[in-house]
Amino acid sequence: MNCIIPVAENNDFTIYNIPFGIYSHQSERRMATRIGDKVIDLFALAELGVFNGVISNNNIFKSDFLNPLIELGKPTTKKVREKIQHFFSDESNQEKINASAQKITYPIEEVTLHLPVKVGDYTDFYSSIEHATNVGTMFRDPNNALLPNWKHLPVGYHGRASSIIISGTPIHRPKGQTKPNADEPPVFGPCKLLDFELEMAFITFNGKPLGQPITTQEADEYIFGMVVFNDWSARDIQTWEYVPLGPFLSKNFASSVSPWVVTTEALEPFRVEGPEQNPTPLPYLQYSGKKNIDIQLEVFIQPENAKPTRVSVSNYKYMYWNMNQQLAHHTINGCNINTGDMMASGTISGPSPNSYGSMLELTWRGTKPIKMEDGSERKFINDFDTVSMKAYCIKDSIRVGFGEVYSKVLPAL
Ligand code: CA
Repeated sequence: MNCIIPVAENNDFTIYNIPFGIYSHQSERRMATRIGDKVIDLFALAELGVFNGVISNNNIFKSDFLNPLIELGKPTTKKVREKIQHFFSDESNQEKINASAQKITYPIEEVTLHLPVKVGDYTDFYSSIEHATNVGTMFRDPNNALLPNWKHLPVGYHGRASSIIISGTPIHRPKGQTKPNADEPPVFGPCKLLDFELEMAFITFNGKPLGQPITTQEADEYIFGMVVFNDWSARDIQTWEYVPLGPFLSKNFASSVSPWVVTTEALEPFRVEGPEQNPTPLPYLQYSGKKNIDIQLEVFIQPENAKPTRVSVSNYKYMYWNMNQQLAHHTINGCNINTGDMMASGTISGPSPNSYGSMLELTWRGTKPIKMEDGSERKFINDFDTVSMKAYCIKDSIRVGFGEVYSKVLPAL
């Protein structure tokens, strides 16, 4: 495909991508896409007539979040993306861009990117078999690492939407109760075992009415796109609080997301088979077709005033339970989903020790510290460290990527 905006080699935002996000140049927030290092204002593009016959009200693009666009459903968002792709593939449109009364493209350095979606509900799954096995091995029994339900259903819990933050937003080290000594009472103070969780999250379209499940077959029609998701975790708070209802304050203080929502259409060429599921899941969790995606993932830790060190290389294709199964399971009891719900994969660990998706696993509970490029060591995340995650797909020299999500850790307040 031709593209009238130059895209450097290894840039995630090719003409094959066309993600959706929210930007502001001076004050007003608007919907945008990105090609190369140019942010493209969708309202300005609409004023040129690019979405004629698809979008009836151009003002929809002058929204603080993508929700009004997602609300229109997949047939519409798919067409909007295709119209953008066609417009920027046609060289004769360069003149129209130059002649437009509205400014259409902005260099990425000149804009501010915002949280793309107003998240209604956030659900976190636990769908990587390597991650669940590692955690089970460390905290329970290496011979029975997976709990009896794990291979029968995608385990998940309801998280907190209010603390989902856009990439670049710093976080403060959380404080809370921990119990460092088994024989002594709990203590209060800053978390000592702050961790990241390497995850991908998908964003939903409006679902069915309450009571009506979405099948694995139908699930594709209800998934808008994906972002990179760092589900910050306080391991010491988690260990003390999680019995019997699961994680609470150890997980809900912050989750950072990447700014561009990459659509499932853009990810389609990178579909791959998932791992074999044995035992065969119950009929409502069975699926057909390639439902995993080959998304390469990297995690970096950058200490203050030092170079980043890459600490993990993983892949979304390792997921045991896929998005279709997660959505089918989530709704099988009649639970309804809404526009802009966010559902995270759970920590994505691969089979090798350098592909684990958390410090808990990479350093094996702190017993094997990671050597950083500046000579320091990490068991968990220190104050003033910046954690970043990158995600991208490459096939037949076509690249579609997510950019990155990063956040700096500041000392506890
Ligand atoms: Ca998580």
